[in-house]
Amino acid sequence: MKRIVLVTGGSTGIGKAVAARFRADGDTVIITGRNAERLAATAAEIDVRSIACDATDPGQVADLAAELGEHLDVLVNMAGGNTDLQRPGEPESLEEVMAAWRENLDANLLSAVATTTAVLDKLRPGGTIVNIGSIGAEYASTSYGAAKAALAAWNAGLSAQVGPKGLTANLIAPGYIEETEFFHGQLGEQKRTALIGATHNGRAGRPGDIAETVHFLASEGAGHITGQTLHVNGGAYTTR
Ligand code: NDP
Repeated sequence: MKRIVLVTGGSTGIGKAVAARFRADGDTVIITGRNAERLAATAAEIDVRSIACDATDPGQVADLAAELGEHLDVLVNMAGGNTDLQRPGEPESLEEVMAAWRENLDANLLSAVATTTAVLDKLRPGGTIVNIGSIGAEYASTSYGAAKAALAAWNAGLSAQVGPKGLTANLIAPGYIEETEFFHGQLGEQKRTALIGATHNGRAGRPGDIAETVHFLASEGAGHITGQTLHVNGGAYTTR
């Protein structure tokens, strides 16, 4: 059966790979992102539909839900990233520190809560929600890690909430994934070597590694997997 798939944050990196993976099955795929020009270019490249939407803005998320059709089968809450890496300089005052924390909580936790809440009624029985956490949740000393840890906790509760509707909800926690814009050019060679060195298989993750995992979680065969966090990190988190 052809499905209807919504991937938030689908214009680059992992989200783009996820969208392309479902599209390869002939599914109808909708991607979102804030940068409308880049989003439209990606949509044209991988032959999917796009709707510009900032997942941290409930008004825009409500508009997104209104623009979607009546039904959805797969929701992938990919939109996110470490907002600390997108800001020049360290926050100093208490106000700046709290604003920085709110940014990461908005980007990585509340974005998924907003989108899920807005489209939940559209998800058909047999459908699935896949949230994207992070290995950073295992080291939650940063606001980014704390936001992703909270997302994983929420995911487990979400599974209980949506199970009776015939839906599953799972979270994938990627390790270090290359070929994305996550680090905004700020990852030095030394840090990269350390991240790869922490894996058991000696390589960085690729967007396709996560795309295949999302695709599996959305398959009929994965129907009894719900409320879980699935670590896709080459073994890295077990070596900390
Ligand atoms: P990218 O920066 O390449 O992709 C992020 C995508 O999300 C872009 O399409 C971006 O588009 C979109 N996005 C960001 N914020 C919003 C928002 N508020 N509303 C809508 N779209 C948004 O990074 P990745 O592909 O690496 O990251 C994807 C996910 O994977 C993130 O949640 C990240 O935290 C997670 N992750 C990544 C890891 C890695 O090593 N790369 C490791 C662990 C987790 P635009 O800027 O136009 O909005």
